[in-house]
Amino acid sequence: MKGAVLYGPRDVRFEERESPKIVEPADAVIRISLTCVCGSDLWPYRGISPVAEPTPMGHEYCGIVEEVGKAVKSVRPGQFVIGSFATSDNTCPNCQYGYQSSCMHREFMTRAQAPMLRVPLADGTLVATPEVPPADLIPSLLTLSDVLGTGWFAAVAADVQPGKTVVVVGDGAVGLLGVLAARQLGAERVIAMSRHPARQQLAREFGATDIVTERGADGVARIKELTKGVGADAVLECVGTQESMMQAIQATRPGGSVGYVGVPHGVELNGEDLFYTHVRLHGGPAPVRRFLLELIELVWSGKINPGKVFDLTLPLDQVAEGYRAMDERRAIKVLLRP
Ligand SMILES: [Zn+2]
Repeated sequence: MKGAVLYGPRDVRFEERESPKIVEPADAVIRISLTCVCGSDLWPYRGISPVAEPTPMGHEYCGIVEEVGKAVKSVRPGQFVIGSFATSDNTCPNCQYGYQSSCMHREFMTRAQAPMLRVPLADGTLVATPEVPPADLIPSLLTLSDVLGTGWFAAVAADVQPGKTVVVVGDGAVGLLGVLAARQLGAERVIAMSRHPARQQLAREFGATDIVTERGADGVARIKELTKGVGADAVLECVGTQESMMQAIQATRPGGSVGYVGVPHGVELNGEDLFYTHVRLHGGPAPVRRFLLELIELVWSGKINPGKVFDLTLPLDQVAEGYRAMDERRAIKVLLRP
């Protein structure tokens, strides 16, 4: 089997890897239908998060169950399944509270940019669709594994409610699907912050009502202008830099909430400044598993089409070009076909 391996900055190779097999009784092995490149894959790709050794890549996946271990009860060979980028038993206290990405037995998935994948804790991690989906639904179902699940969590963490005004910081795939999530959760006004025409267009298709092109202090001033000087009820932070985090906090009204899902890189907050903002912060790695059943239903019934976020499809053996296209912002999100 061949899959993607990151050797160092801007060095992704498609090379021979060991075929996965059942190791633990709770494992499943799935045949990947589609996988993709994540914005968070770009942190190690750019050398911002160094890799110590050649690292198999990929954590977004869906596909057909090939084989299950002896302890697996909820999924069986032949089913089409989607799983979170973080495994969970779905039974420990953290899982019961809905924070499956903090499961006491969590592992972060990697190795999904490959034709086959071993999924630990299959019963608590994987959810099967009602039947094997038609091909045109699979890109949308794949987004539930991370990118839509993460945008959805950003909206839930920011306490998006019907009638509210929402700002989305970040026009990557997560931010764009955060726009979709905010609208689905009933937001009346969704302001997307983006300077890129193609991304602005997609944000509008996903339900953005306003676009703000300014950034930093100018961006915050523009949000204040649009909200009678008050700020937004809910802000989704979908980048993870100091600038984006400050932009999110400062665009929020006193008493409002920031849902932050961009993996922070060098973000530092000043306690005293934060104290006087009166803003709630909630975020972290999205507990995608919490939302899987609900989101499968929304895709299955045709109510949402998050798969539109993929604007480039490549065969898996061209995975290196997929990383380049996202790194150079030629593509919003790259779909990989094994
Ligand atoms: Zn758990």
